[in-house]
Amino acid sequence: MKNIAMQRPKSRILSDRLTAREALSGGVGHEKSARGAVFLDRDGTLNVERGYILQPADIELIPTAGESVRTLNDLDIPVIIITNQAAIAKNLLSPEQLERVNEKLWAELSAAGAYYDALYYCPHSPEVTPECQCRKPKPGLILQAARDFNIDLSASFMIGDKLSDIGAGRSAGCKTILLLSNGGKDVYQGAEAASPDFTCRNVGEAIAWLLPRIQSG
Ligand SMILES: [Mg+2]
Ligand SMILES: [Zn+2]
Repeated sequence: MKNIAMQRPKSRILSDRLTAREALSGGVGHEKSARGAVFLDRDGTLNVERGYILQPADIELIPTAGESVRTLNDLDIPVIIITNQAAIAKNLLSPEQLERVNEKLWAELSAAGAYYDALYYCPHSPEVTPECQCRKPKPGLILQAARDFNIDLSASFMIGDKLSDIGAGRSAGCKTILLLSNGGKDVYQGAEAASPDFTCRNVGEAIAWLLPRIQSG
């Protein structure tokens, strides 16, 4: 799925529909058959964990992130970011500010020759908003991305540094990879119970592991 214009796709929420142009360039109904994708958590997976990321300057790419995402891009494997952004529900961050933060992430990836095909976020918080279907460990955003981009979830991978990432990936029927480098000590506590398919230190190691296990193109 080449992003021909290399324009950053607008960040999506649950039920956010594809525009006609997006649909033509790789969305619903365009692909001949479903294929595997790589779903990635954002904070602590692609960029350094810093609690709530509220401004562009808070985005610092993790060293292996750019080159490993570029490897997926080169193989035409869809790269889709799935992120919980409870700061929105808590009024610490507006959707417009989130776009500016995501623009910075896009710029950092671009500098490494990499891009993402879509970014979906949950704007809710269990402390503020009623229970939603999109906050990880719920699989709602992954399921929607699968519909939007014609993705075979059983051939896909979810990579993240929290047990909620693993839970979302498993519920969606993906293989899962848990990163131990950024989520900190509590990740180690429940890692065994979460049963990720693979555990490693960073996104670079995760993508190196999945490459021989995913069908490309
Ligand atoms: Mg994370
Ligand atoms: Zn939500």
